[in-house]
Amino acid sequence: MKNNARDNQNGQPTDSESQGNEMNNEFHQLFLDELADLLNAEMQLTKALPKMAKAAQSEELAEAFRSHLEETENHVNRLKEVFETLNEKVKSKTCKAMKGLVEEGSELMEELKGSSAIDAGLIAAAQKVEHYEIASYGTVRAWAEQMGHSEAVELLGETLDEEKAADEKLTEIARESANKQPA
Ligand code: FE
Ligand code: ZN
Ligand code: FE
Repeated sequence: MKNNARDNQNGQPTDSESQGNEMNNEFHQLFLDELADLLNAEMQLTKALPKMAKAAQSEELAEAFRSHLEETENHVNRLKEVFETLNEKVKSKTCKAMKGLVEEGSELMEELKGSSAIDAGLIAAAQKVEHYEIASYGTVRAWAEQMGHSEAVELLGETLDEEKAADEKLTEIARESANKQPA
């Protein structure tokens, strides 16, 4: 896949050019499908994050969720922009993985209502989400690179950096609050 993408990018005819183009087309389609999955995942998060902010006990955690909500709204827009830079129609497809992660988060909020452990539970749920996003954006960014979609590389990389920062922020908040817990 990698070699075919490179050959195509350089305009070099390959031994089996038609076979290579077909492969590129399938790879490109996979890329678009993954972007559609991610767009849906981000849209799910714009609904889940306000609930998590409300459920958080510490103001610092609530603020972290609120500020990541703002970033997440931007992630939605960036993905739409990626489709546009590719001259493709914006597409969204239910992300079952995110649905599952969000459902688990909701269950946790229900179970931990009034518990002093609720923030720890919210952080755990949120970090699973961030790791899913980091994996997904890392993948689509690498694919965009292989296919020479440089504007997409740029946009996806910006979001990837924000997902990593959000994950690190949650680790920091978890450590701080763990230090405040009585041993
Ligand atoms: Fe995101
Ligand atoms: Zn997904
Ligand atoms: Fe995120």
